[in-house]
Amino acid sequence: MTARTSDIEKAAGVLRAGGLVALPTETVYGLGANAEDTAAVARIFQVKGRPPSHPLIVHIGGAEHLDEWVQDVPATARLLAEHFWPGPLTLVLRRGPRVPLEATGGLETVAVRVPDHPVALALLAASGGGVTAPSANRFGQVSPTTANDVRAELGDAVDFVLDGGPCEVGVESTIVDVTGDAPSILRPGGVTREELEAVLGFPLAVPSTSHVRVPGQHPSHYAPRAWVVLVEPEKVIAEAELAQELGHQVGVFVPASFAGAPVKAHAVVAVPTSMSAYARGLYGFLRELDQQGCDLIVASLPVEEGLGLAIANRLRRAAGPRPTV
Ligand code: AMP
Ligand code: MG
Repeated sequence: MTARTSDIEKAAGVLRAGGLVALPTETVYGLGANAEDTAAVARIFQVKGRPPSHPLIVHIGGAEHLDEWVQDVPATARLLAEHFWPGPLTLVLRRGPRVPLEATGGLETVAVRVPDHPVALALLAASGGGVTAPSANRFGQVSPTTANDVRAELGDAVDFVLDGGPCEVGVESTIVDVTGDAPSILRPGGVTREELEAVLGFPLAVPSTSHVRVPGQHPSHYAPRAWVVLVEPEKVIAEAELAQELGHQVGVFVPASFAGAPVKAHAVVAVPTSMSAYARGLYGFLRELDQQGCDLIVASLPVEEGLGLAIANRLRRAAGPRPTV
């Protein structure tokens, strides 16, 4: 079901009144508030259980609004915005006075993007302002890629859910910091490093996975309830079967190169050959294995090029060390 005009007007009214709206974007569903309403922004952190030092992304309706929210925009940022907006690219720039420190986790920089989704763009046009939104999930968990995922995850904690169908890209935006001398990727995502480099004309540093660079890049993030174990592609099936024999309820991500091989496990996901299909399906697969009662997921990393870089980043974090309970 896709949102109608009346839903969009209702959602814009909820934002104006200081409420929270879950909105579809091409990456994942966001939990949105009026970016200038500090009380509404504070509620996002409360609902997500997110530490207030973790900055949010401000979504705007078009590149022509950029200067209303940021200052000192370098030529590189304009070039990237021109090529990739609307789209899954977030630019980190110097905060303008309109952005409250509550939305940036106290930072003097702000992350901004124009989402490529008709419902999100209609909401931004109707609200007439900026909508600050992290992914619409509880802190550290799997991002929602359908309106039902949001409802299952947040229930009544969100005032209105706009349904825009399943997300096309399926992983979060690529975050590029353009405040320094050389732009750098803070988080790989829906726009690939190769696409960015083709436009910039020079190579970008591959993001380090060990180096905790920005909040939201904690070792455990994007994690299902089941433990995630990463092994070499050729060992996935044997590891999964061993763990199943040892009494685990194992969910297995069978690499595309082993498609069709029989696996003795609790639940099986056939990893798509196409990286865009894999990205689109990734969070749904993780949720599905949780729902099927798996306590362990065995997977391997894809080749880290194109969208494979973002997929590998999310899988590593899903497998990352978790806080002790
Ligand atoms: P999410 O909560 O999943 O939507 O993620 C938002 C991402 O944007 C997090 O990884 C944040 O760390 C990142 N982010 C937002 N603002 C900034 C900023 N000013 N500088 C660096 N990263 C940022
Ligand atoms: Mg998130």
